[in-house]
Amino acid sequence: MSQSTQTVFAAAPARNLGQAMRRGFVGRCPNCGEGRLFRAYLKVAPRCPTCGEDLSHQRADDAPPYITMLIVGHVVVAGVLAAEDIFPQSPLWLDALIWLWLTLMLSLALLPRVKGALVGYQWALRMHGFGGHQDET
Ligand SMILES: [Zn+2]
Repeated sequence: MSQSTQTVFAAAPARNLGQAMRRGFVGRCPNCGEGRLFRAYLKVAPRCPTCGEDLSHQRADDAPPYITMLIVGHVVVAGVLAAEDIFPQSPLWLDALIWLWLTLMLSLALLPRVKGALVGYQWALRMHGFGGHQDET
């Protein structure tokens, strides 16, 4: 960590991590909680339209799909195993239809929420330029 980075951290007020992640989870700006975080399904707006906070520093990369697959996989596999116990005679085509549909819907619903929470996490911890400094390369 460089001297200038330490100065930025020492001077900057602490940000509420839980609040920022909750705001991001519901698609709102982690700073004000009012402006929309996304300008498209997974495209983060460059700035908050309400408070003007620069959101272009986010670097969620492939963490949102990874975390989404982790959550959805645990829910769906547990559901498939439980359903097999409860309805052992159900036709295979019906099981496939239900669980594939549920997997798709859960993934599509969770992906932007997980990404929003991660952007809130990065913002609250002043990562990747959210703290007024650029990443060292
Ligand atoms: Zn805002």
